[in-house]
Amino acid sequence: MKIPKALFPFFIFIAILSILVIFVVKWEYLLGKETGAKSNSNNVIDDLELENSPSSEVINMNDIGNIHKNLTVCDTHCDTVDRILKGINLGIRTDQGHIDIPRMQEGGVDIQVFACCIGRPKKEYPESYAKLTTKMINALKSEFQKHPDKIAIALTPDDIKNSIDSGKISAILAIEGGRAIENNLDKLREFYDSGVRLMTLVWNSNDWADSSQEKPKHNGLTNFGKEVVREMNRLGMIVDVSHASDKTVLDTLEVSNAPIIASHSCVKAICDHPRNLNDDLIKAIAKSEGVICVNFYSVFLDQEFKDKKNLYSKNKASSEENSISSRQKPPSISKVIDHIDHLVKVGGIDCVGLGSDYDGMNPPPEGLEDISKMPRITEELLKKGYSLDEVGKIMGGNFLRVFNRVCGKKDIPIL
Ligand SMILES: [Zn+2]
Repeated sequence: MKIPKALFPFFIFIAILSILVIFVVKWEYLLGKETGAKSNSNNVIDDLELENSPSSEVINMNDIGNIHKNLTVCDTHCDTVDRILKGINLGIRTDQGHIDIPRMQEGGVDIQVFACCIGRPKKEYPESYAKLTTKMINALKSEFQKHPDKIAIALTPDDIKNSIDSGKISAILAIEGGRAIENNLDKLREFYDSGVRLMTLVWNSNDWADSSQEKPKHNGLTNFGKEVVREMNRLGMIVDVSHASDKTVLDTLEVSNAPIIASHSCVKAICDHPRNLNDDLIKAIAKSEGVICVNFYSVFLDQEFKDKKNLYSKNKASSEENSISSRQKPPSISKVIDHIDHLVKVGGIDCVGLGSDYDGMNPPPEGLEDISKMPRITEELLKKGYSLDEVGKIMGGNFLRVFNRVCGKKDIPIL
C-alpha cells in the first residue's frame, strides 16, 4: 500500500514526540533516583546493586495501585479485638475505628497481626488474665470464621502462602502483655497450641519483665523471663519487645536464639518518648536479623505533637485548652517516612517494617487515617527513591522473613 506523501510530516511529528516522551520519563527517573537511593551505608555497593537489580526498571508512578497490590503487605500490630468484643462485624465497612475487612482489602493488606492486649481495666473485664486472653482469642477466631473466604488464621509460612494464593488475608494471633501466661510456661504452651504465634513480652510491667513506661523492678528480665524467651524460641513463637524497657530488650537479645521484633515502635532520635527505641537498640535488633515496625501514633511520631499534648495534660488544661489539644493537627504521613528513613540509615533496609497500632491509638497521621491508606506508604517510599525491592522489604518482606524463620520450624495443628 502506498502511503500518501501528505502524511510524512505527521509521521515525523509522531517520531519526535516519542523521542521527547522517552527522554522526559528517563530524566525524571534519574532525578528521582538521585534524590534518595536509600539502603545501607555503603553507597558504592548500593548503586551497583540498584543498577544490577531488576527493580531498577522505570517505575510508573501512575500504577501505584498495581505495584502495591503485588507486594506482600503486612501490619504487625492492631487492637481491633477491642472493637470485635464490642460486637462489630469485621466484614462490614464502616467509618468507625481503623480496620475492617473491606478496608484491609482496599489497603492491599496480606498479613494482619491481631493483638490481644492484656492491659484492660479490671472492672470491665473481671476474668483472670489468662481467661481474658482466651476470651479475646476466641472472639477473633469466631469473627474470622464468619468470613472464611476473606480471612484465615496463619500458623505457618505455608498458611500465609495458601491465603495469598487464594486472595485471603492472613491473620496472625498475638498476645500483648506477658502477664497473660500468669507466670506459667504451660499456659504459654497452651496459647501456642491455640494458635498464638507472637507475644509482646510486657505491656506495662509484669512479674518478670520491666516495661518502658514504669519504674524498673527487675533490672530487665528475671530468670523466669529468660525462660519465657527460650520457650518461645523452642515453640516457634515470635518474641516482641515493643513496650519493653531498654534493659529488657538487651536481656531478650542476649537470651533469644531467634530474631526478635518490635511490633509497633518508633525512633527515639526523632521523637523522644519512652516507648521509642534509641539507635543502639535499633542496631542491636537489626543485628539479630529482627525487625522494627513503625507505629503510626502521632504522639510517637512527632516531637512537636507530643510536646503540645504533654503541655496541655501536665498543666491541668482548661476545657478550652483541652479542646485545642484534641483539635491539634496530626503530623503528615511524611513523619512515618522519616522514621523509616532513620531505621534504614541506622539498622539497614532489612530491619524495617510497619506496625500501625490501628484501633489502639488516635490520631494517626494525615494521609494514613485508616488501614485502607497503606498504598500511600508504597507511593511515598517510591517517590523518595527507594527501589521496588526495598519497598517490598519494608511493606512486609522483612516481617515475613522473621515469621518464616521462627514459625516455619514445625506445624502443630490448631486446637
Ligand atoms: Zn501497644
